[in-house]
Amino acid sequence: MTEIKVLKFGGTSVGNVGRIRHVAGVVADACAHGKVIVVVSAMGGTTDYLTRLARQCSKTPRKRELDLLLSTGEQVSIALTAMTLSDLGIEAKSLTGQQVGIFTESKHTNARIVEIKEDVLRKHLADNDALIVAGFQGVNAAGDVTTLGRGGSDTTAVALAAQIKAIECDIYTDVDGIYTADPRIVPDAALLDRVSYNEVLEMARLGAKVIHSRAVELARVYSVNLRIRNTFKPDHQGTLITGGDMEIFRSISAVAVDKNQAAIAIMNVPDQPGIAGKVARALADESIGLDMIMQSFHPTSGHNSITFTVHEEALDDTIRVMNSLKTELGASDVQTDSDCAKVSLIGAGLMEQPDIPARLFDALGQAGINIKLISSSEVKISCIVNREDAVAAAQAIHKAFELEKLDQPR
Ligand code: ADP
Ligand code: ASP
Ligand code: MG
Repeated sequence: MTEIKVLKFGGTSVGNVGRIRHVAGVVADACAHGKVIVVVSAMGGTTDYLTRLARQCSKTPRKRELDLLLSTGEQVSIALTAMTLSDLGIEAKSLTGQQVGIFTESKHTNARIVEIKEDVLRKHLADNDALIVAGFQGVNAAGDVTTLGRGGSDTTAVALAAQIKAIECDIYTDVDGIYTADPRIVPDAALLDRVSYNEVLEMARLGAKVIHSRAVELARVYSVNLRIRNTFKPDHQGTLITGGDMEIFRSISAVAVDKNQAAIAIMNVPDQPGIAGKVARALADESIGLDMIMQSFHPTSGHNSITFTVHEEALDDTIRVMNSLKTELGASDVQTDSDCAKVSLIGAGLMEQPDIPARLFDALGQAGINIKLISSSEVKISCIVNREDAVAAAQAIHKAFELEKLDQPR
């Protein structure tokens, strides 16, 4: 049986005609070894531009229409990539998510993939050397175009690779692979040869946008051979993402930064059953995702405060929902802070080593960085700091744990 590879190229990689020609060359080389499914993102900056355009027309654009608009970005890049490949003598066909049979949930702007019609995919593949598939989009049961959430082209690529049992799924981007921190923020971050699905999943969930977290989840479930590579250095091996935590175990793996956080505090609510449930339910009813959540402990006052963070884009909706709930909760006040970034240290069993939180908080203290909120789990410690402190905080933590030396599995 012919081997099938999935190659995905991000927005920078197809950012202009010259880069599309370069990508076509990489794809043509891969076609010499078997059939190739290529997933492309919109040309760099296009999705942001379309989002701005929508907001100029409507303050709260309808999500159905927004999805239809945003999906056009990928439609441009698949068509351009396919025509460039045809000129190189490759039988290439561009296909939208709908044409290739990517079915999603009905909800818009952040839909999950429900099914991929493998027969449709194989039929197209039989007649072509390469299929050029639009990332980030699908179609729901009503026949409406949906999108998978920002950065979702990675998820399209992994889903296709899982469905067709591709031998490999290569995510081509604008850096050499996965580093111990965003190399644009921490210049001496170490490039990792191999990382586990679990490590990358945590990095992606905590803000490292090098890969969409749902792509990693899918790859882990379906054991997809996933590699992050640099489009502009096609011979570089990049980073292999695999299972096998036992073999490549490290106690500390990376620092991640999420600059788009906002914090909300519901002040002085009665210390009685049901309050946290009401807060969480009201947010869930509006599909507002909670991130960090904590409740303060004032044992003798009969009151406490509930504090949580949301994505900064959800702040206005969150304030509206919480203000409408304030009287029912008996809260004295709803306070907000939109100037937040989350900086996280990631590793297996962090909290089992008491020295680690101490070193982390000391590093921030010595750098003169105030911590607004702290939360932890077995695999991460996250601190909310002022957005302007995010880079310095990531650098200080990276240095304190000497992550620049972490280029080899320990
Ligand atoms: P693409 O358009 O190819 O999908 P993205 O911009 O979504 O690319 O993701 C690549 C970017 O991810 C890099 O340019 C880098 O700045 C950022 N990044 C964040 N954290 C990391 C990390 N730990 N390792 C590598 N890159 C990272
Ligand atoms: N074009 C979409 C975005 O910019 C999807 C992607 O690039 O992965 O978010
Ligand atoms: Mg991306």
